Amino acid sequence: MAKEKLETILPKPSLLPASKKLLGKALLFWFGERKRDLPWRKTRDPFAIWVSEIMLQQTQVATVIPYFERFLKSFPTVEALAAADEQEVLKHWQGLGYYRRARHMHQAAKMIIADYAGVFPDTPEALSCLPGLGRYTRNAVLSQAFDTRLPILEANTKRVLARLFALAHDVDSSLGNKFLWEAAEEILPERDIGEFNQAMMEVGSLVCTVTNPKCNSCPLSPFCIAKRSDLVTELPIKKKKVVVTQVQELATVLVNKKRILLGKRPVGQRWAGLWEVPHDTPEEGETEAKALGIISRKYASVESKRFREIGKVIHPVTRFKITVRVFMGEVSGKGASDYYEELAWVCLSDMEKYPKSSPQSKMIAMAVKALELKKEV
Ligand code: SF4
Repeated sequence: MAKEKLETILPKPSLLPASKKLLGKALLFWFGERKRDLPWRKTRDPFAIWVSEIMLQQTQVATVIPYFERFLKSFPTVEALAAADEQEVLKHWQGLGYYRRARHMHQAAKMIIADYAGVFPDTPEALSCLPGLGRYTRNAVLSQAFDTRLPILEANTKRVLARLFALAHDVDSSLGNKFLWEAAEEILPERDIGEFNQAMMEVGSLVCTVTNPKCNSCPLSPFCIAKRSDLVTELPIKKKKVVVTQVQELATVLVNKKRILLGKRPVGQRWAGLWEVPHDTPEEGETEAKALGIISRKYASVESKRFREIGKVIHPVTRFKITVRVFMGEVSGKGASDYYEELAWVCLSDMEKYPKSSPQSKMIAMAVKALELKKEV
C-alpha cells in the first residue's frame, strides 16, 4: 500500500520556462564547444544516422567508428543494404556482437524498399513498424535527421536526468523509467532537438560519468538538484547487480584433410546465420572424452578417436561468463547435422569468408594456428 501511495505522489518532473530556456542555451553552447568529432555527426542522412544508432547499442563509440565507416562504404544507401546478401551484412558486423541488430537492419531495409519505395520513413508510427527500432532508436533517428521534437533516453541520459531531477527511485523500475522519459521531454527546447539530444548523451559520456562526475565543468550544474542537495554520489539509484553465473563448455574443432568443419547457426538462435565449431556444456559427471564424442556426434555425426586441447576462450553473454575449452580432433566422413542449417568443410585460407561471432573467431584462429604449426613441423 505504502509503495502504491508513493507511486501516485511522485511529482511530474518540471522546470520553470525560464530555467528550461537557460538550460537549453547552456547545453547547446557547451556542445558546440566540446562535442567530439564523430562521423555520424557530419550528416543528416537518416540511413547513416540509423546505422550509427544501431551500432552504438551496447557498443563503445571508439569500437563503432571503423565499423560504421566500412559499413557505409559497402552499403551507402538503404537500397544497397536491402540488396545485399545477409552473409555479407553479417561479415561487416563481425566482431561487433549482438548480431540480431544486423539481421533486423537488413530486414528493415528490405521493408523500406517494399513499403516506402526506398524513402526513409519520417514518422514515429512508420519507424515503429520496422524491426529493431525501439522508442529510443526511433526518437534518436527522427530528432537527429529531421529535428522532430522527440525525447531520448538511454544509459547516459538516464544517469544525467536521474541526477538533474534527483530521482529517488530505481532508474530501471517502470516508475523510474516513466519519470525519466517525462523529464527528457520536459527539458526539450523548441528547436535544435537533434543537437540537444546528442548534447545530453555527450554530457553523460564526458561529464556526468558513472564515477567522478565533473560537476564543476558541467553545463547543467546550475539546474542540477543532485548537485545542489549534495546527492551526486548517491544517484542514480539502481537495483542490485545481477549475479554472474559461470558456465563451462567444450568445443570441438573437427578436422579432415586440413579442413575444419563449420556449422551455420539456425534461425531463431543466438548468433543465427553465423558459422562456428560445435560446442556444448557437458552433462554433470560426464568425462571429457565422452562429452567430446557426444558433441561431435550430436552436431556433426562424426567420430574422432583422439582430441587434443588447443586453448581456452572466456566470454561474457548477458549474465553468464562462459569458459570454453577448445579441442581438436581428426575425423573422416562428410558429417551431417540436424542442428545446423548447413555444414561446410573450410580450408584455412577460406576461413575469413565465413562470418563468425568474436568467441568463435578466437577459437578458430587457435585451430588455424595449431594446424599451421603442425604443417611446419
Ligand atoms: S552537475 Fe554533476 S551531477 Fe549534475 S548533471 Fe552535471 S555532472 Fe551530473
